[in-house]
Amino acid sequence: MKNKKPNAELVWKQLEDHLAPRLRLSLIDRTVYAHLLRHSRLEGKLRLRFSIRWLARNLRLSTGPVRQAVRRLVAQGALRLVQRSKAGHVVEVRVPEEIRPEKLDGIESRSAVTVKEDGAGASAAINIEEADFLQNTTLRKAIHARERNQCFYCLRRTTSTVQCLDHVVPRVRSGCNSYRNLVSSCLECNSQKGEKAADDFLRRLYREGQLNAAELAARLRALEGLASGKLRPSLP
Ligand SMILES: [Zn+2]
Repeated sequence: MKNKKPNAELVWKQLEDHLAPRLRLSLIDRTVYAHLLRHSRLEGKLRLRFSIRWLARNLRLSTGPVRQAVRRLVAQGALRLVQRSKAGHVVEVRVPEEIRPEKLDGIESRSAVTVKEDGAGASAAINIEEADFLQNTTLRKAIHARERNQCFYCLRRTTSTVQCLDHVVPRVRSGCNSYRNLVSSCLECNSQKGEKAADDFLRRLYREGQLNAAELAARLRALEGLASGKLRPSLP
């Protein structure tokens, strides 16, 4: 993992828009995470040594809830515990995009669906037009594979740690979990697109120089193809 300072603006947006709702961080969890992040990664350091007492004093909180928040953040993968002793904790603090999306999706989908996580059975019995492509790992992977591990919007290469599924029509506007509405994207595009229309977001990437004119035209065609069902993912 690199020690380079992350883009603080992007980290803040990802925390607010993406990480906090998906991990269901409480107010204390969020405050603790933000404070640890500020004193580690935003200073260009991966690791931080601290005591619960120091953390609680800085946040004007008592030590019990702060200790529990640190424990939850470790369990959720936002912190990696390197060492714990009487003298204090040593943790590696992860920025939001380093916390695996699969883990986030898992937490999200567990509450929403009751479908079994059975790789082979999922494809055998599936009706592709009615399938919920967020429901299990096999179907989510099929969307990432269709995009060939490239962000659908900005075309940058993605890896399993920096990719997620994006709703072309956001869920708040009744977008569904069909293969016609889910694309594989980088975390940055997912966070920046937010509730904007996908074609407007693509034009913005073009204006910012992230796509050239030919790429923009091709992405707009892909968007139409997606909605009309031409971009079927292949199921294993
Ligand atoms: Zn992207």
